[in-house]
Amino acid sequence: MKFYFPDSQDQVSPTYDFIDEEYPTHRVRQRDDKYAHQVVHPIPYEGILVSKAIVDGSVKGAGKYSDRQRYRLYRDGVREFFRLPEGMSSLGDCGAFNYIDLEEPPYTVEQVIEFYEKCQFDEGVSIDHVIFGYKPEASERDVDPAWVKRRHISLDLAEKFLAELEARRSKLQPLGAAQGWSPASYADSVARLQDMGYKRIALGGMVPLKSHEIIACLDKIKEVRHEGTELHLLGITRIASMEEFWDRGVTSFDSTSAFRQAFMDERNNYHTDKGTYTAIRVPQVDGNPTLKRLILAGQVSQAAAIKAERECLRALRAYDKKQVKLDEAVAALEAYLTIVDEKKKEKYSKHYRKTLDERPWDDCPCDLCKDLGIEIVIFRGTERNKRRGFHNMTVLEAKMRDLRFRRPAAAADTQLA
Ligand SMILES: [Zn+2]
Repeated sequence: MKFYFPDSQDQVSPTYDFIDEEYPTHRVRQRDDKYAHQVVHPIPYEGILVSKAIVDGSVKGAGKYSDRQRYRLYRDGVREFFRLPEGMSSLGDCGAFNYIDLEEPPYTVEQVIEFYEKCQFDEGVSIDHVIFGYKPEASERDVDPAWVKRRHISLDLAEKFLAELEARRSKLQPLGAAQGWSPASYADSVARLQDMGYKRIALGGMVPLKSHEIIACLDKIKEVRHEGTELHLLGITRIASMEEFWDRGVTSFDSTSAFRQAFMDERNNYHTDKGTYTAIRVPQVDGNPTLKRLILAGQVSQAAAIKAERECLRALRAYDKKQVKLDEAVAALEAYLTIVDEKKKEKYSKHYRKTLDERPWDDCPCDLCKDLGIEIVIFRGTERNKRRGFHNMTVLEAKMRDLRFRRPAAAADTQLA
């Protein structure tokens, strides 16, 4: 099972100073900052996924790339741009979620192939149009005509995509994108893509589905899937269902969820092999809008806030070194959080105590936790938060490694090598 990490230009600065919270003076972001595959070992993913919409911008606004970055990616190719190690693969797609509101995809087949070829991707997904709904029993006659249209748009574009690649004698490995709203409609899309000649098929639009619904679709697809056809799940990580997915022909997936939970999830921010922990929110005095308002309104003294913030960080670091007891660290933390946001303090209090008490960072074998200690569980600023996201991906990687996939005999040797 191959895991692709979707790129959103998430990097960390290897020389960031966590005590003074400063970047080195001579830092050049593009040159010095590092991707997850450059800072943790073993590398937590086998490939990266890059979306055209993220690179080139989309209807929803600018992409994540500056003009110079985009220029460099097109000029140097994906391998050099991302400094991809030997053996790591690159997959391009259109980023269909970015144009979900449009009636038709905003790109032509030619534009997308230009993007894949100029950036020298190993593999590319045909242009698709996401159907945002699931009605397991519904036939074409029973659903919103827009859904029917979107499935046919995706199939038509997949056919044109393959024809254009053949005309260009392209080396790109094509993945056909299948859309649907039910097991039967997904299975029909897969059957048609196989007829066109696709050997790899990406299943799109399944992010909102429950795992049993995905499995129902895969079971129906199994009835039409040829022996050698491999499936990719776009945007899905359900680790608990991975073995069942594998048994039904899924050989790869991509997802940002382990990474993003580090700073987007309400509570499950720091992952371990046994469960999840809540990261300890220690907002920066000058970076926290609520606190800023209170200071401006004269309800909080800025000097007192800064003092409590420093004392809190000092106590947490001393706790990490076992120089102070849990209660003392918690007291300093709560003293600061009382100033910042009393309500949030109440809400998270018992979760913070658990994180501190159990010290999960002490047991993590990843490079980042060894290097950072308690800083990795502190929810504060991009450098800590992204590192925690990278850490989460190492946990996912280790879980994937422990799964016992029943590999087909022929593939077993190469996969284990
Ligand atoms: Zn770690």
